[in-house]
Amino acid sequence: MAREPASLDLVRVLREHGVQPSAQRLAIAECVLAAVDHPAADTVLARVQERLPLVSRATVYNTLHRFVEAGLLRELSIAEGRTVYDPKLDPHHHFVDLDSGAIHDLPWDALEVRGVEQLSAERLSAYDVRDYQVVLRGRRHARRRAP
Ligand SMILES: [Zn+2]
Repeated sequence: MAREPASLDLVRVLREHGVQPSAQRLAIAECVLAAVDHPAADTVLARVQERLPLVSRATVYNTLHRFVEAGLLRELSIAEGRTVYDPKLDPHHHFVDLDSGAIHDLPWDALEVRGVEQLSAERLSAYDVRDYQVVLRGRRHARRRAP
């Protein structure tokens, strides 16, 4: 599941983040920066290999790591033992479907989280909160009627 991005824009986006846009990096960027399904590294690898059959696992993994460092992607460990990549950098929460393993985005204002600022501002607090999100796990309701 990926939207078709404009390659020229990706060249610019990579350069703006200090990443040299090689052909392999562009192919990887096209597969992951437009993804809406929080793909794992192996999923990205399989998608990239559809276009570049000879691309190595190490290249894809290293590039994903580079994209995270460059601030193009977020790395999430929200499903048990599985790291996934999220190109959506705006704050949002996640819902993990326990049946399918699918990870869905929830709008930031769909939930209300209180106390984070106090926790961080408390002078004696051991916590310096930089980032937080809520991960909900559950099952989607069965549809009452067939679509
Ligand atoms: Zn997300």
